[in-house]
Order: sequence, then structure tokens, then C-alpha cells
Amino acid sequence: MVGYSEAPYDSQRHPLDNKLKRLPRFRFPLCQRAGRGILKSTLSDAQAIPPASGTYALLLFCPRSREVHVGRLGPQTISRGWYVYVGSAFGPGGLRARCLRHLRPLRRRRWHIDYLRSAAALQGIWFSGDPVPREHLWAEIIDGMEGATAPIRRFGSGDCRCPSHLFRFWPRPSFSAFRQQALHRLPAHGPISAFSVGTPRQARRNAL
Ligand SMILES: [Zn+2]
Repeated sequence: MVGYSEAPYDSQRHPLDNKLKRLPRFRFPLCQRAGRGILKSTLSDAQAIPPASGTYALLLFCPRSREVHVGRLGPQTISRGWYVYVGSAFGPGGLRARCLRHLRPLRRRRWHIDYLRSAAALQGIWFSGDPVPREHLWAEIIDGMEGATAPIRRFGSGDCRCPSHLFRFWPRPSFSAFRQQALHRLPAHGPISAFSVGTPRQARRNAL
């Protein structure tokens, strides 16, 4: 299991030692460690994201190559770089609730993207309150952007025909280029905005 290790049990030692050794030692994933510093301001800023249903993309950065177990997809190598994951939020609480979930430390892993969080920290969110689900269109557009690769087949796309909903970039992908392409491809597309994670200075740097 990623981000978690349990000390080995040794029955030859003092009972108290054994008791202490049985206690699991938690190693916080990178994003959660980073998240502790930015949590307050970022979470309050994220209240500005509309509670409407819509489509979103998470922009993440992996600072060094790591192996991550991604649910049923098994162990996967996440190399250093930028990642864009596309999803949609058409359940209760809409975009705001979903974005807050991605920003908060995880209690349990549910989706493939939850496993990636142990290797890559969230830097920004692109979102649109367009009432029609656009995630597959977004995945196609992002896949076609300059420098995009899809390193893990079927990541986040187990129930659709897209090869993947996760794309790797180096250097960082441009939000304005993405928005331009989406609006060019579908002029009737609803407005697309970006939310930057971090301090105001980091947020300015992450905005484009
Ligand atoms: Zn899809």
C-alpha cells in the first residue's frame, strides 16, 4: 500500500516493545505534507468554485520519479513532470465539493487519481460549469496538446472509450492554450476558469 508502512513484528522482544512495534508508522504523501502549509487559504479560496455540476482538470507536479500502485492498474512509474487529469462532477455539491475533496488530505482512496496524489502535488484546477459533461472532449483536446503523452493506459477511463484521462507534460501545459483550443473546438462551450493552489505568489505563478 502506498504511503503506509508497518514495522515488522518480533515476538522475542519485550511485550511493550512489541506493542510499540505493532503500531503502524504513517508516512504522509507529498501532497499532504505540502497541503498542510497551504490548506487554510487554499480551502477558503476554493469556496469561490461554483457548486454547479461541471467538468474539471487537475494540474499536478511530480518532483521526482516514483513507483505508485494505482488500484487495479497495479504498480506504475510516475516520472518527474507535469500531469493533467480530467474528470467531471455531476453529483451532489458539484464542482466545489469535488475540488475540495481533491484539495483535502485523503481519508480513503476511491479513484485512480487518489493513488497519484502520493507522488504528485496538486498545483491548479481548470474547471467549467458547462451543464453538459465535457470530460471526454477535454481528454481528447489535452491529449492533442503539444508535448502530451498518456503514460498509463485506462487511467480514469475505465468506463469510457478514451485511452486515458491522465496526461503527462514537460514543460508545464498552458491553461490559456487549452481554453483557446476547447472554445475553438466547441464555440458553444461554457466559460472555462482556472483555480491556483498555494500562496498568492504561488497562485500567480500557477495561473497560466
Ligand atoms: Zn473519457
